Amino acid sequence: METKHFQNLIDGKWVPAQSGKTLENRNPADTRELVATFPASDKQDVDAAVAAAKKAFTSWRLVPAPKRAEILYRTGEILTQRKEQYAQDMTREMGKVLAETRGDVQEAIDTAFYMAGEGRRLFGQTTPSELPNKFAMSVRMPVGVCGMIAPWNFPMAIPSWKLFPALVCGNTCVIKPAEDTPLSTYNLVQTLMDAGLPPGVVNIVAGFGPEAGAPLVEHPDVRAVSFTGSSEVGRIVGQTAAGSFKPCSLEMGGKNAMIVMDDANLELALEGALWGAFGTTGQRCTATSRILLHKDVAQTFINRLVERARKLKVGNGLDESMQVGPQISQQQIETSARYVEIAQKEGARLEIGGHRLTGGAYDNGWFFAPTVFSGVKPNMRIAQEEVFGPVVSLIEFSSYDEAIAIANGIQYGLSTAIYTRNVNLAYKAMRDLEAGITYVNAPTIGAEVHLPFGGVKQTGNGHREGGTGALDFYTTWKSVYVDYSDKLQRAQID
Ligand code: NAD
Repeated sequence: METKHFQNLIDGKWVPAQSGKTLENRNPADTRELVATFPASDKQDVDAAVAAAKKAFTSWRLVPAPKRAEILYRTGEILTQRKEQYAQDMTREMGKVLAETRGDVQEAIDTAFYMAGEGRRLFGQTTPSELPNKFAMSVRMPVGVCGMIAPWNFPMAIPSWKLFPALVCGNTCVIKPAEDTPLSTYNLVQTLMDAGLPPGVVNIVAGFGPEAGAPLVEHPDVRAVSFTGSSEVGRIVGQTAAGSFKPCSLEMGGKNAMIVMDDANLELALEGALWGAFGTTGQRCTATSRILLHKDVAQTFINRLVERARKLKVGNGLDESMQVGPQISQQQIETSARYVEIAQKEGARLEIGGHRLTGGAYDNGWFFAPTVFSGVKPNMRIAQEEVFGPVVSLIEFSSYDEAIAIANGIQYGLSTAIYTRNVNLAYKAMRDLEAGITYVNAPTIGAEVHLPFGGVKQTGNGHREGGTGALDFYTTWKSVYVDYSDKLQRAQID
């Protein structure tokens, strides 16, 4: 297949990086395949993109929100037509199995339709004034130019969570996709353009984090920054944004626990564990990376999980019979391997996996065996730190209170789950688990776009994507007072 060479999108035109540098996007299931090349941009390109977005803002903010929404609605329709092609592109650029990349595109479709609906809402408040003949209301105003930095694991869904609410609210955008997965962002933005988005409203600057991401965060004309990625990089982004007080939404890592009580439907919990731990090859911020097992069911669960993990079919995601794809890069399988070593040194029991898969087609990609550790203690590094690979830790507990303490005893707070048939315990867990998301009788993955998405503690800084939380980030409140008394009225005095 002929290699495509993509360029940056600035002011509606495709332009190379001013330095002429490029980066390669390779298929992690077969690194011999060069999917495409993209610009390796730097500050000059970011400056040009921000200038284009700033210019476009002067007119885009005045387009009525229901009209902006119509473009999103058309985007959802076109994405629906192109779903299969975009899913194939995504599997080639990042490895997830086709069923999952179809889901990723579907998430962008759902977000398009949901946010299109917001074009006729974007509700503010009207409220009585304390003074006679005076009208009071609050309205949502766009923020201006928004800078967006995305990770590689949901390469279309996450950009859609950022772009679509920003657009319906009247903002213009500069997005820097992850260096490993720019193609899906290009497909998304191409669809927006085909749906009628005016030039300059969305600009793409492809490249690496320090060269292309950092100048975007630093740029004085970027009025808000939305970042999804690791806590390590999020800290840098947040500190930079704080320097100029610009709003900054940080969605970061997780170490998500699934609690299996002694009364749980074990078969259901097993299904959930396999999907939560090994879906997306464990490379989800919400991946089930700790399974907390009541001691009375622990051994049965461990035996059955290992047996099921052994049967998982790992391979190229374009093959419909595969259940688990490759990891994104050599660096990620090295991280998985390093954590296997750490866990073994700490005394955890390796039940299955723990190594890179080799031989035949495996040699051309970054495949890691589904890995299960039992006998994990809550304070081990393998139970505390995000691996971002197909590695799950099993921890035993004796009581509900102990399970909650273990689940909460980490620096992250993204997603959690409890399997129980006891309705009282389920409600207690909904209250007690320190996390942005709690599932009952479902694994830690599976968010829907119209609910708030994000976490507490070191997972996030209080903002939410999805749901109306996204509108709160991409708008600022303006309070408007209209005095129709024809005289000076003094609040708090008259
Ligand atoms: P990463 O932090 O390495 O990179 C994320 C993005 O930041 C990339 O686009 C990268 O180029 C950019 N970047 C890197 N250095 C930068 C810098 N100095 N300044 C500005 N930008 C910079 O993360 P990743 O490996 O792409 O993604 C995996 C991480 O993302 C995991 O920790 C995962 O939990 C997290 N994640 C979180 C969510 C969530 O919503 N909470 C969703 C998906 C992934």
